[in-house]
This record gives sequence, C-alpha cells and structure tokens, in this order.
Amino acid sequence: MSLPVDPVSNLAALIRCPSVTPAEGGALGVLEAMLKALGARVDRPVFTEDGEADVENLYARIAGNGPHLMFAGHTDVVPPGDESAWTHPPFAAEIAGGEMFGRGAVDMKGAIACFVAALARHVEMRGAPKGSISLLITGDEEGPAINGTVKLLEWAAARGESWDAAIVGEPTNAEALGDMIKVGRRGSLSGRITVFGRQGHVAYPHLADNPIPGLLPLLEALLQPPLDAGTAEFPATNLEFTSVDVGNPAVNVIPGRATSAFNVRFNDTWSVETLQAEIHNRLDRAAAENRLRPGRAEPVSFELEWLGRSSPVFLTRDEKLIETLSASIEAVTGRKPALSTTGGTSDARFIKDYCPVVEFGLVGRTMHMADERVAVADLETLTRIYLRFLEDWFA
Ligand SMILES: [Zn+2]
Repeated sequence: MSLPVDPVSNLAALIRCPSVTPAEGGALGVLEAMLKALGARVDRPVFTEDGEADVENLYARIAGNGPHLMFAGHTDVVPPGDESAWTHPPFAAEIAGGEMFGRGAVDMKGAIACFVAALARHVEMRGAPKGSISLLITGDEEGPAINGTVKLLEWAAARGESWDAAIVGEPTNAEALGDMIKVGRRGSLSGRITVFGRQGHVAYPHLADNPIPGLLPLLEALLQPPLDAGTAEFPATNLEFTSVDVGNPAVNVIPGRATSAFNVRFNDTWSVETLQAEIHNRLDRAAAENRLRPGRAEPVSFELEWLGRSSPVFLTRDEKLIETLSASIEAVTGRKPALSTTGGTSDARFIKDYCPVVEFGLVGRTMHMADERVAVADLETLTRIYLRFLEDWFA
C-alpha cells in the first residue's frame, strides 16, 4: 500500500464513511488502514455504558525513543439534516470550485486527513519519528461524549501511555487558515433557580404568595455587579439566563412557583467551586433583602440546583508547544495566529488533565451546516503546517 501522503484523497475516503454519531460508518477502519501502512500499532477499543450507545474508538501509536506527541480528534459527525439543502451530497466528497463538500470536511475529518498526510511525509523523510506519535480518535465527540475521549484517555493511561503534549484538530480558524490557536477554554456551569410561592386567585393575593416578585431580585443579583472584568488571557465571565418560566397560561391565577435557568462561561478568576459559592452567596443575600414583596418579613424561599456536567476553565502554558506551533503556522502561511481562549468547550478539557494541549485545525465557517466544505488548498496548507510542527517539535 502506498503511504497516505495526500490529504485530499485521505479526506475523500473519510467523508465517504457516513459516521454520524454513534455509528463508526467505516471511518475508523479507513483510518486504521492508513496508520498501519505507517507502521503504527492500532487498537480499536469499544466503550459501553448502560443507556448509551456502544461507541468504537481508535488509539494508534508509532513508537520511538523521545518525547510523545498526541494528536486528538473525532471521526464522528453531526447528521447532514435535510439532504436536499446540500448542493453536493453530504457523503460523496465531491470537489467543485476548489472546495471539497461533505459532512465532516472541517469538523473534523479534514484535520485528521491532514495530520495523517503530515505524519506519512514525516515518516517517508525520516524513516521514523524521533519520538512517539499517537492518534487518539473518538467516535463520540458530537454525541453525549460519554463513551469517547474520557474513557479513551483512561484506557490508554491504564496501559502505561503518557504524553508530553497534544494537539486537537478542531476547526479553530474563523476566516482564514492561520487565524487562531486555542490555548485554553473558559469553564462552563449551568444551574436552575426555583422560587416557591403559593398558588391562588389574583383577586385574593393576600391568600396567595406570588413567586415572581421574589424571583426578580435573585436574577438581578446574579447580573450586578459583574462577576469579574476579565483577565490577561480571558474575556470577562458571562452569565446568561436561558429561561424564565412559571408554566401558567391563565391570567387570573397567581402561579405557585417560578424557575429560571442560566449558564455561566467563566474565566480563570474562578474554579467551579468558588463560582458556585459566589452564586449561592449572591442569591442568599438577595433573598434576605426581600424588597419587592412588601409586607412579607420572611426571606424569599428558593432552591438552587446545578444542571448537567460542569467543566473547569483551563489555560495551557507550554512554551515549546505553543511557540513551535505558532512558528510553523507563520512559516507556512505568513500569518501570526492569535492565541485565544474563546468559543465553546471541546475534548481538550479532558486531555488537559494528562498533558499540555492546544487546538488548531481548519477554517470552521461551515461546520454543522448544509454544504459543509473545505478549500482543497487549505488541506495542503494545513498538512504543511502539521509537518513543519512535527519536524521542529521533535528536533
Ligand atoms: Zn468537532
């Protein structure tokens, strides 16, 4: 088998596998064949959990003496949606106007195709890398992410694997290749406030207890004063209310309870625990003030629950990793990438517990859209960036 040095044919082969989460769709099989041609040892662990779909994952390693670099990503893709909205079919990898169309083109089979091509060129030139290179590829990033990266990291670590640095191939560039490396992510915390009152007739308010006036100062207390003003590396922490709800369609009924949900994207001023404590304190103080409920001496009766899985903030401070990648991007594209901590969460939040991690991939503009596509020229450029990085990081 010839070496997979061409990112365009690598990507076409991957896009033609309809690997919508949690289906493997043949994508990991295609990747396994490419990596075995490079001399990698490839494992395909399947993870299971009650109530969740079984998910196939892939861990491949080309072993050498020296530092150990991980490339991480996912071959699963979001569904194509209404296929008639696509000008080229979502799993055909057709090229038109210098762009390849297909689900996963940028998020993120494209970056995997480029990393494999870079690795193939590196192996072709060097015989073998001056260290170890691993690919940690999950089939469960776009889904619940339960049988994916978290378990794959634990699985690999239990087998004695450890890493010196990692690159995640998520699409980090907004407009052009070379815009942005992500060097950290804000944390995320979600919660729900419920204020308890007593239901009744609007004409007899003294017999009821309206929870809505009690909820308002609690909401205000979370917005003012601002949680912080931002830090050197991160924007200001932002709290968004995502719902306010009493579930009451009648105009002559005072509702019995009022709820509001919120999500906070927070910077390195906070940990999950300190932020939870701050939110609790603000609500307790506002509940005791009771200024919108005249005639009622007792504090607003409320409950606060935390929703879903919170994720901590992180910031990578590995100079060799960040500077080598920045310099590779600048050498190939002539552009100096911004080091950013913006955007949503990614699997980097799990990898950071094992080694320093940054994210750099393609231009994300069309991800999750109909007609997801990548400029064919970008595939060659990203391959050269990754190759340059491999040469310099192992040098
Ligand atoms: Zn992705």
